[in-house]
Amino acid sequence: MQNPNPHAVLLASPGMGHFIPALELGKHLATHHGFDVTIFVVAADASITESPLFKPPQTPNLLNLVLLPPVDVSALVNSTASVVTRLVIMMREALPLLQAAISSMKSRPTALIVDMFGTEALAIAEEFDMLKYVFITSTAWFLAVTVHFPYIDEEAEHKHRVMKRPLDVPGCRSIRHEDTLDLFFDQTDRNLFSGFARIGMEISNADGILVNTWQDLEPSTLRALENEKFLGRVVKASVYPVGPLVRPVGQSSKSEVMDWLDMQPMESVIYVSFGSGGTLSAKQTTELAWGLELSQRFVWVVRPPVDGDASANFFNVTNSHDGTPSYLPSGFFTRIRNKGMVVLMWASQTEILAHKSIGGFLSHCGWNSTLESMVNGVPMVVWPLYAEQQMNAAMLAEELKVAVRPKIQPNAGVIEREEIAGMVRRVMELKGNEMRDKVKELQRSAHQALMQGGSSYNSLERVSKDCELNVKSLQLPNCHRNDTMPTPPALGTSVTPTLAGLIEA
Ligand code: UDP
Repeated sequence: MQNPNPHAVLLASPGMGHFIPALELGKHLATHHGFDVTIFVVAADASITESPLFKPPQTPNLLNLVLLPPVDVSALVNSTASVVTRLVIMMREALPLLQAAISSMKSRPTALIVDMFGTEALAIAEEFDMLKYVFITSTAWFLAVTVHFPYIDEEAEHKHRVMKRPLDVPGCRSIRHEDTLDLFFDQTDRNLFSGFARIGMEISNADGILVNTWQDLEPSTLRALENEKFLGRVVKASVYPVGPLVRPVGQSSKSEVMDWLDMQPMESVIYVSFGSGGTLSAKQTTELAWGLELSQRFVWVVRPPVDGDASANFFNVTNSHDGTPSYLPSGFFTRIRNKGMVVLMWASQTEILAHKSIGGFLSHCGWNSTLESMVNGVPMVVWPLYAEQQMNAAMLAEELKVAVRPKIQPNAGVIEREEIAGMVRRVMELKGNEMRDKVKELQRSAHQALMQGGSSYNSLERVSKDCELNVKSLQLPNCHRNDTMPTPPALGTSVTPTLAGLIEA
């Protein structure tokens, strides 16, 4: 007998920036929309289970988190391969485990929701007669370029990549050459290019696409995705803006940073962080240290610098508190004692951004960080590093006008201390001005979208209705494509250990 509640299986790809929004989507589906939820997490190693996020205290009972045993892909991936290539391979290697885990479930789940690195798993959903959804943990604009990607011909690619002309995306803002995706430049790995086109096709052919944005943030791009004259021609799936789904502020945990923030004046501190994996070069780290020292009160999440790889810490986010960092200018801690706090490796970002003393965020523009800034009404200094972060930076600075941007691209050279101090000053000293007012407006509209009856709430209700219909049709005899559950694949190891890791949160 099929469970009367729809059961959504989510698949999260490696990286906190993918796990966190999947968890939030799962919580919303379970808490407000009547779903049972299982989230399968693919990770580089098992250390993610030690993160407090893996056992969220307020997670409803209807949500299970399962770590799929990490697969060693080092023999399959070249050590210089991009983050995207490594992610795709890790996800591919996890597919047999996901298939076996679904197959061993007592009742058939209703829907599979994957992020953009998990689209190959949609074939498993078809096999099990489940609805197929993709959850885009970025903007509708990024979704637009992704679904348009398979249709970019050689001439358009040449004009954009070589002649540096903007890339046209039907019905949407075009993408300037300096804001484009890394993969236009990485000509050493054409697999990356064709792999991205494959992902674009798979997304378009899903039953639905959930996007971590909201209607009033990107109205014209969302219209273009549905309009037959523009991208609606290629996107078969319905598009559901469901955001902003961000990690809520936890119970006030006492920490040195929070205690320090309590003592600072309202909106006087800039928070500086480059996400879960963002990394600066040694020279840039030093320059940033001097730039912050010259400017405002700050909280800075610092990672050891790595030259030549802006995403070097992507698969390595464990906390490390050993030793004073030798990569900061000597005497830095002493000189900043009264105006700054340095946090090594990882901070409680949502709690920090929600603190009344925070007045600005210098960010790498990962989409989760961006949303967290917006829902707290905090204007930004944008410092994009990799992936689609340049596009996010352009949208924030030029379209939404809630951020300032460096004159040069962070990856194209070193941003000097005077410019850093100048950008920080512009954001922090503009209290009550246009930029701050605009981001507070976004904060209000984000809040409304998520409330019962709001646009994002209603989007998830529509997904829920489709899934309920699917549950009913599966309960009717002769109404589904497969009469028997498929046989699990022959695996080297039993699936039971996988499921032994199942955590009932
Ligand atoms: N994060 C955090 N503490 C840190 C760094 C990051 O809590 O020190 C969280 C942050 O709040 C966000 C996520 O990790 O939810 C990072 O996602 P984002 O999309 O901003 O960037 P990515 O890490 O994927 O590049």
